[in-house]
Amino acid sequence: MKMLEVSDQPFPKISVRDHIGPKWLGRCTMLVKRSDPSHRTTEIEIQKSVMSDPATLERVVAHEVCHLAEYVTLPYEEVKEGGLEHGHRFLGFAAKVNQHMGADYVTVKSDKSFKQSETTSRSYYLLISHADYTAPAPTKIMWCWAAKLGPKGQTYVSRHPEAKLVKSTDSLWTQGAKIGDGWTVPKDEPRKEALEALFRGGHTSGS
Ligand SMILES: [Zn+2]
Repeated sequence: MKMLEVSDQPFPKISVRDHIGPKWLGRCTMLVKRSDPSHRTTEIEIQKSVMSDPATLERVVAHEVCHLAEYVTLPYEEVKEGGLEHGHRFLGFAAKVNQHMGADYVTVKSDKSFKQSETTSRSYYLLISHADYTAPAPTKIMWCWAAKLGPKGQTYVSRHPEAKLVKSTDSLWTQGAKIGDGWTVPKDEPRKEALEALFRGGHTSGS
């Protein structure tokens, strides 16, 4: 709430939902006591499917917190129960978050879709190596990628005869270093195994 310049508020009720094919990933609603409109409680609901992707979870929560800020700062006359539109108040809070997080981090629809699809629209080059150039012996698997291989990229690939060049459409690997800029080591075991499998199926630049 500090980022949104809203004073601290009672914590909203948080609920996890597990809908199949949900229309929303996060939702924020407000309940108003009819006899006392100043008495407002809020609830943020999050779909379980979002939990597996921390980046999406964070983005969905940021969207709902903008609604929350909107609810708790709403003047008495504008209070109505239920969900709100994405009006100027919401957009004002979203702009504050985006100042910190980057443009379009919170958008009107940022609680409805995952950050990115799992595959890219075109295939790209993935260079995979087992050598760790900072260690005396090859220890870990790592990768770099490029959408196109120009003369510079081709030279870089040929300088790494131990590495294998494969093509991929998995958007996962585009979150690493570009060919020529260094290497990225997989963060977890499943990614490591996926990379090993690609390595085994690939061919070296020398072959
Ligand atoms: Zn919304």
